[in-house]
Amino acid sequence: MNPTRGQMLSEMGIAPIWRLRDQKAAAFIAEDSSQATPPTPPVVVDLPRPTIRTAVCANVADLDWEQLEQCMATCHACELAAHRRQVVPGVGDRKAEWLFIGEGPGAEEDAKGEPFVGQAGKLLDNMLAAIGLQRDEKVYIANAVKCRPPGNRTPEADEIATCNPFLLRQIDLLSPRLIVLLGRSAAHAILHEERGTLASLRGKRFECKGIPVVVTYHPAYLLRNLPEKVKVWEDLLFARQLMEGTKAPSLF
Ligand code: SF4
Repeated sequence: MNPTRGQMLSEMGIAPIWRLRDQKAAAFIAEDSSQATPPTPPVVVDLPRPTIRTAVCANVADLDWEQLEQCMATCHACELAAHRRQVVPGVGDRKAEWLFIGEGPGAEEDAKGEPFVGQAGKLLDNMLAAIGLQRDEKVYIANAVKCRPPGNRTPEADEIATCNPFLLRQIDLLSPRLIVLLGRSAAHAILHEERGTLASLRGKRFECKGIPVVVTYHPAYLLRNLPEKVKVWEDLLFARQLMEGTKAPSLF
């Protein structure tokens, strides 16, 4: 049996706050559509063509999944290679409709070889469940960089740029219907947005290679800022509405 919306929100830890907003959202959605706020026009992102500093594979854009993962596993194109136990390429359904992109592997991910394990991973799983998704089923999860930054620091701009061809090839191979960027590093990797705050990127429909892109907070940030879960819930609703092809009115 599918969990109720209340159960899902309770799982995310935001049920008491959501009940109030749910009434507002329901009233807003029930309004005459002619009164609804028109959806935000897409911001089309023109992707640059970054070059790998030390080209392990010169033809990343032509690789299939196995070749790509082999190339990543042997990559030493940036300094992060010196700090990893293993490369963490990504995990999930290779026919995914949803692509979630985070920052980079942490200690647990580096040890296990899978993105978003541990507390942040559990929270991401709860976020997915809240909109009826689960890992490995129409969902793929990747990171802006595939190797662990030392001390779990934020990846440097040049590290994100050097690793970018791998991420772009993953997008090409997946051809997802929607991309959700989790945090600033992911926004940097796909939107090349370095100056704006993450808050300024929320609630907008960007576009990358014709694929809708939305931005929300990283689960690790949420663990330190629990009240922001409400905003993530709003972002997930926005993403789901885009995915469903319906008008996506701003709920905030
Ligand atoms: S982070 Fe990316 S570019 Fe850097 S070594 Fe790892 S796989 Fe290569």
